[in-house]
Amino acid sequence: MATGKINVSVENIFPLIKKFLYSDHEIFLRELISNATDATLKLKHLTSIGEAEVEYGKPVIEVKIDENNKTLHIIDQGIGMTKEEVEKYINQVAFSGAEEFLEKYKDSAKDSGIIGHFGLGFYSAFMVADKVEIITKSYKDEPAAHWICEGTTDFTIEDANKTERGTEIILHINEDEKEFLEENRIETLLTKYNKFMPIPIKFGTKEKTLPKAEDAPEDEKPKTVTVDNIINNPEPAWTKQPTDLEEDDYKNFYRELYPMQFEEPLFHIHLNVDYPFNLTGILYFPKLTNDMSMQRDKIQLYQNQVFVTDNVEGIVPEFLTMLRGVIDSPDIPLNVSRSYLQADGAVKKISSYITRKVADKLKSLFNENREDFEKKWNDIKVVIEYGMLSEEKFFEKADKFALYPTVNNKYYTYTELEEAIKENQTDKDGNLVFLYTSNKDEQHSYIKAAEEKGYEVLLLDSPIVSHLIQKLESTKEKVSFVRVDSDHVDNLIKKEEEQISKLSDEEKEKLKTDFETVVPKEKYTVQLEAMSSDAAPIIITQPEFMRRMKEMQQTGGGGMFGMGNMPEMYNLVVNTNHELTSTILNSEKETQEKLIKQALDLARLSQNLLKGEELTNFVKRSFEMIK
Ligand code: ADP
Repeated sequence: MATGKINVSVENIFPLIKKFLYSDHEIFLRELISNATDATLKLKHLTSIGEAEVEYGKPVIEVKIDENNKTLHIIDQGIGMTKEEVEKYINQVAFSGAEEFLEKYKDSAKDSGIIGHFGLGFYSAFMVADKVEIITKSYKDEPAAHWICEGTTDFTIEDANKTERGTEIILHINEDEKEFLEENRIETLLTKYNKFMPIPIKFGTKEKTLPKAEDAPEDEKPKTVTVDNIINNPEPAWTKQPTDLEEDDYKNFYRELYPMQFEEPLFHIHLNVDYPFNLTGILYFPKLTNDMSMQRDKIQLYQNQVFVTDNVEGIVPEFLTMLRGVIDSPDIPLNVSRSYLQADGAVKKISSYITRKVADKLKSLFNENREDFEKKWNDIKVVIEYGMLSEEKFFEKADKFALYPTVNNKYYTYTELEEAIKENQTDKDGNLVFLYTSNKDEQHSYIKAAEEKGYEVLLLDSPIVSHLIQKLESTKEKVSFVRVDSDHVDNLIKKEEEQISKLSDEEKEKLKTDFETVVPKEKYTVQLEAMSSDAAPIIITQPEFMRRMKEMQQTGGGGMFGMGNMPEMYNLVVNTNHELTSTILNSEKETQEKLIKQALDLARLSQNLLKGEELTNFVKRSFEMIK
């Protein structure tokens, strides 16, 4: 037996590292299994090029718990190490790697982000074990070696009598880390980090029911056999070529990723690039609701099939974090902080590649089957609209396929829409005016009124639509968006003949004063307008600009402070040609007040402005009137 001293210069490296990575102890297992996988893949490579004259066979990596001895074993059938290699790779490489890691990051431990996810390798075993043993036999014709280290810089190494090729790592689990001797805990960890690693990982056994033989009697009991419990799928869909996959393979993989998700994804995007960076993956568009915050953190990041994190902030553009799926890239630096990550050149390229792929996929879906694209629009619009707002490049592409549905389920692209309304919907300055509603039910009477005038009304109801409108107005030339219940609707040049008022100027003067005495001045500006006698007698409108600013502030407008305190101001437009208006004009004071109040409340009701006690009183009063 030989003993020795590991040559490290960072003092007390063991306690330091334990403390340093305190919250992330569980990653030791991923690190050791990564090493076992590397060792197996190296052997595969060597046998394939004829450098190793051994049978590669069907290697597995086995993880075993020995409760009696309080040990956890990780056993591979990879290249193994000779005694000299253990001295070199473990005593020198592994320890100097750990030392370097510590040196580099001991001051930035708090700027964690991704730090702690990677970089320690074999050394991380000491986060959970007091004593670590390596029993290893190289594929070369040399005796096996047995290395023991008890969490100090001293180690021993001697010959061992292991005859099968490969390496067994034995962890004597620390009393404080007993959880890593629990079957459930280990199985959960294996599933979390190693679900898609390229070498089969065995953890215990399980019962499997055999399919019945065709000629088996009806009442025959199903037979079961005990088989290895293999944790992972070594060939996940994203590692294959898109041409080798069917639609169903993608759907099945989605289910594998999200077993608790019952809804099918709408479509997928297969990412596959190896220059100038290496990236594979599959992204899925799930059905999205309007609640954007709920759906983040569903994309999983892998490096060479090893799970790293499900927080891809900084790697994937923010608007795409609502998608699901997998990204696998060895080119993303991981032991760095988020802010560093965002400035990294490779990461920037990856991010814009993903954005481009998503835009291209949407474009081709739109081109290939527009009808289907229209059907899906409602479920995908949030991502697209959000992307148009936040990424200029995406805006340019999406402008060709982003849809603007009307209240009657017609879907226009922007250019088609311009074409459709240019004859009929312009204002005095020659701007195109897009009419829209944000809520078909609440703004129903206004929609009706606009449709009667022959206007096309868009249904724009996603939560960030006011921002998007603002963006379109500033990007496109001579366009404005006007909500159906906004006073700006009046600025439209009407196709029909101007209505002539039935009232004389004197009568108009009196009518205005009558209204102003009853209606609260600080809330309503009374305006008279000659409309058709079928139109409503009074209508409440609100300036487009003011309302939109308020909405934008509510959905994170950025920089528009203080707008929340803006007073609620409305226009009260009185139709001078309506029968009720004449009745009001010619009534006694008392009746007049009653009628104006009732009419005002009806107008408020149709704008959804009548609530609480006022609504209760209104209903009560209305019942009184008809009894
Ligand atoms: P890294 O894997 O980043 O090189 P590690 O500290 O994890 O660093 O491991 C150091 C070295 O020890 C590896 O490069 C490898 O040569 C060797 N090694 C570790 N585990 C195994 C194993 N299971 N089989 C063969 N060699 C191994």
